[in-house]
This record gives sequence, structure tokens and C-alpha cells, in this order.
Amino acid sequence: MIDDLLEGNAKFVAGEFLPNEEYYQTIAAKQTPKVLWIGCSDSRVSEHQMTGSKPGTMFVHRNVANIVAFNDVNISAILEYGVVHLKIRDIIVCGHTRCGGIAAIEDGVHENYIADWLCIATGAKEAANRIAKERKLSREEKLAVLTEENVKLQIKHLKSLALIRNMHAKGSLPRIHGWLYRVETGSIEVLVDGRAEGEATSRKGAAARKKPAKKRSSP
Ligand SMILES: [Zn+2]
Repeated sequence: MIDDLLEGNAKFVAGEFLPNEEYYQTIAAKQTPKVLWIGCSDSRVSEHQMTGSKPGTMFVHRNVANIVAFNDVNISAILEYGVVHLKIRDIIVCGHTRCGGIAAIEDGVHENYIADWLCIATGAKEAANRIAKERKLSREEKLAVLTEENVKLQIKHLKSLALIRNMHAKGSLPRIHGWLYRVETGSIEVLVDGRAEGEATSRKGAAARKKPAKKRSSP
């Protein structure tokens, strides 16, 4: 397998890099990614490939079950570097079907670190449990609901982080999008459309900036 990877690299250099050398030299000088991607570590979920994007498009963080943890210095540093220094204006949280992490949230796991990590998605499991009970869902249907609820919960976590909260309070982006990638079809489904929300946020911000300061009433 390792030989295949190195052979693949030689093919990449000859077939992709050299024919597009100007582009690759531009990004070699400076990266200017437009999107911050938070996805699952799953080997089938390759963000650049599924979106037909070239290297240099996305600043990427991936972990088991695309989780945004409050106490995760790793993701916090990536977010800070992405939105403050690289000035990225769009964050995508992308879940996917057939996610082993999601199945583990549903079934429960005993391995220490995986169990602790997946605890962060407990809220999504509670929501999925409620919906599954109301709608009498099968296991497959419930896993689909849990996958969606997990993306929504991680967006909630993201919006709760002080870094993002303060940026939103100032009326500045980033916009936050929730996506689902279907490993069976290769298609992306938009669960949370951050495009509309971002416009609303920036309009609100613009309105707030234009709004004259309230006159103090006379004593
Ligand atoms: Zn996964």
C-alpha cells in the first residue's frame, strides 16, 4: 500500500501539479483558503474530492464524528487561526452516512477514549431518542436522524464558543453551514443553510452599525 501511495504521488506531480504549476506556486507562496472544514476522520469522506476542490481551498479539521468540543484546544486553535488570521468567512460542519462514530453513539462503546469523546454528542442522542420514539423509527432511520442531530448540535457548540460568539455579536461573519455527505451516492445534502443566516447576520450587523446611538434622557 505504501508503495502505491508514493507511486500515486509521482502521478499527481506529473498529471496534476506540473500542468497547473502556476496555481500550485501561488498557493505554495501563501495559502488563502475560503472555507474552514470540520468533518469526520472517516477514510471515505474526503472534503476536497467530494466538492471537486483543489488543494488550497479548505482549512481542515477532522475527528471522529465531526465533533466540536468545548475543551479541545486543537479545534479552538484551528478556529482561531482560520477565522482570525486566514480571515475565513465560511465554516462547514459535515457529517456523513454510515458513520462508525454515530453508530457508536447509538450503541454505546466501552473503549475509554472513544467513549469519553462521544459523550460530547450526548445531546444529539437524546434528541434522536425522542424523535425515534415519536415516529417509531427503525434503527437505520434513527441513525440517519442522529447523524443530522449531531451536525446541528456541533453547530450549536461552535456558536457557543466565545471566539465565534463575539464575532457574531459584532455582526461579522463567519457563516456556519451544516452538511451531510452520503457515502452511498457521493452527494452532499444541505442540513443547515448558512448562506441565508450569514446574510441575515451581516445585514443585522450593518443595521446595528448604522443605528444612531440612543439619546440619553434628561435627568
Ligand atoms: Zn464518521
